[in-house]
Amino acid sequence: MSFLIDGMVGELNRQLLRYAVGRAISCPGCKTILDERDSVLVTVGKTSVVQCGDCHDETVHKLETRGVSLLADDVIDGRASR
Ligand SMILES: [Zn+2]
Repeated sequence: MSFLIDGMVGELNRQLLRYAVGRAISCPGCKTILDERDSVLVTVGKTSVVQCGDCHDETVHKLETRGVSLLADDVIDGRASR
């Protein structure tokens, strides 16, 4: 049964990412047009940010240098489902 739930969660995450990419259209960091296969949606509390993969990696690096790390549950990475 858990593979069914994992599949449903994966599909829900893909749809959430697709929706976020469709709303944002371009990356807030580098202004390139977002592609859901190279975008990452991060949700912390009530705030969500979708970025391209490169800008996300840069953000994660900046956070880590300040001792902050994101929880895996807060991140939907479109690059992971390639
Ligand atoms: Zn970017």
